[in-house]
Amino acid sequence: MGSAGEFKTIPREVPTSRDPKTRVKDFNEIHPTANDELAKTQAIRCMECGIPYCHDDFGCPLENLIPEWNHLVGLGKWEEAVERMLETDTFPEFTGKICPAPCEGSCTMGHYNDQPVTIRQIELVLADKGFENGWIKPQPPLQRTDKKVAIIGSGPAGLAAAFYLNRSGHNVTIYEKEKRAGGLLTYGIPNYKLDKIEIVLRRIQFLEKEGIVFKTNVDIGEDISGKYLKKHFDAIVIAIGAEHPRDLPIKGRDIDGVHYAMEFLSRQSKTLAGESLPNDIDISAKGKTVVIIGGGDTGSDCLGTSHRQGAKEIIQLEITPPPPEARAESNPWPNWPLIYRTSSSQKEGCDRQFNVMTKEFFGDNGKVEGIRCVKVEMIIDEKGMRFDEVPNSDFEIKADLVLLAMGFLGPKKNKIFEEFDLELDARSNIKVNDQMMTSADGVFCSGDATTGQSLVVRAIASAKNCASKVDAYLASITV
Ligand SMILES: Cc1cc2nc3c(=O)[nH]c(=O)nc-3n(C[C@H](O)[C@H](O)[C@H](O)COP(=O)(O)OP(=O)(O)OC[C@H]3O[C@@H](n4cnc5c(N)ncnc54)[C@H](O)[C@@H]3O)c2cc1C
Ligand code: SF4
Repeated sequence: MGSAGEFKTIPREVPTSRDPKTRVKDFNEIHPTANDELAKTQAIRCMECGIPYCHDDFGCPLENLIPEWNHLVGLGKWEEAVERMLETDTFPEFTGKICPAPCEGSCTMGHYNDQPVTIRQIELVLADKGFENGWIKPQPPLQRTDKKVAIIGSGPAGLAAAFYLNRSGHNVTIYEKEKRAGGLLTYGIPNYKLDKIEIVLRRIQFLEKEGIVFKTNVDIGEDISGKYLKKHFDAIVIAIGAEHPRDLPIKGRDIDGVHYAMEFLSRQSKTLAGESLPNDIDISAKGKTVVIIGGGDTGSDCLGTSHRQGAKEIIQLEITPPPPEARAESNPWPNWPLIYRTSSSQKEGCDRQFNVMTKEFFGDNGKVEGIRCVKVEMIIDEKGMRFDEVPNSDFEIKADLVLLAMGFLGPKKNKIFEEFDLELDARSNIKVNDQMMTSADGVFCSGDATTGQSLVVRAIASAKNCASKVDAYLASITV
């Protein structure tokens, strides 16, 4: 497809998202899926390039066979396209909804005229078709081995490791400390980006039907020891994510009303699912002036959630300057374009401020009323990166609720770190060797716990690799 030059004549087109004015009144998904016709006309824009960067190191971490699906979609061969996708794509219904699509950043069409093929949309259309037509269905293994694998954590990495190890016939149990499985798919990424019942729960139920056992509300290290797992399972996969939030230990940090982003986001997800919440704190944004510290994706999710809770006003602060409108010379194609973006939540309205450092939280009666800030200049030199204060640029911002969305510092440490004597890397992530094994024999690790907070697609790719190493390890210990 694309050989007749459709890439020159057909522009990039994605379906129109729900109107920002009305969508903030509910938590339903905001981005619709393309119809068949749109998917086909977009697929034939694929140039089938000689070197398709979209599925090598620069593009899709799963190495999805994108030009091949596009070709089949263009011909209307839907079932074959789904089959081709499933050769590499573990959970296309997740990535089709929330992947930032590094594949599109490295698409040749993006280089040619800044209009990459709508790869993620086509993936989503194929995922929907796969489920609707029963082409994606539970496939329990025909034969079981006698090997038992425990997986700690049920985020995308835990689910993907379980998916592959179970399909290899091993007996897999996932332990999850929360009430519901899914990790950040369930408790982090807001419902308006990813539906929890129709999309996340559906896959978990499929995995259960394939024979994977889920044990939720079990905190490994607290409720069950690592030693117990070591004794009862042939291999363990740690997939506990990178939940340790970066703090801002400045004056007034302990004032009521200053919270980590994930406290805020997970409460919203729990409320929508009817889970009970501890009623000692109120983190609602309703009627409040909300200040979000951190201009990244987690900050954007706090922003969209604050809108839906009825915030009066929302300010998002970022310490760095705004990125350039177009690629810098140091950021050439096919690398991911580091450019100024406006997220779907930011399109719903927000005062975005750059080059701002927060110096102090203040308020009477122990409740936050505002923050003191200063403008900064980012300096990058031989000593690294630093932020110099601009003289006499101090200012105050009113705030009733402050959300800290400044990133994460690796996995939260718990008793299993001591029990398994886990070695950490320089960024306090769990260190693994080229077999994805930690410093403890038979204990493997994948996803954000090894890399730091990343992307769903990278967590899945890491788990896929890890599962193949665990499979080889289990074969090696067979007597
Ligand atoms: C707010 C937010 C929004 C994001 N949005 C996107 C997005 O739109 N697109 C995207 O690609 N990426 C997004 N990401 C990143 C993405 O969600 C993560 O990279 C991905 O979920 C990592 O998967 P994981 O399985 O390694 O970890 P997680 O998803 O964090 O899952 C880890 C699981 O382990 C469980 N666990 C931890 N300790 C224990 C224990 N001791 N016992 C039992 N269970 C335990 C946790 O409860 C959790 O369920 C977002 C991240 C955040 C924070
Ligand atoms: S998983 Fe992400 S990177 Fe891979 S094809 Fe889908 S959207 Fe692109």
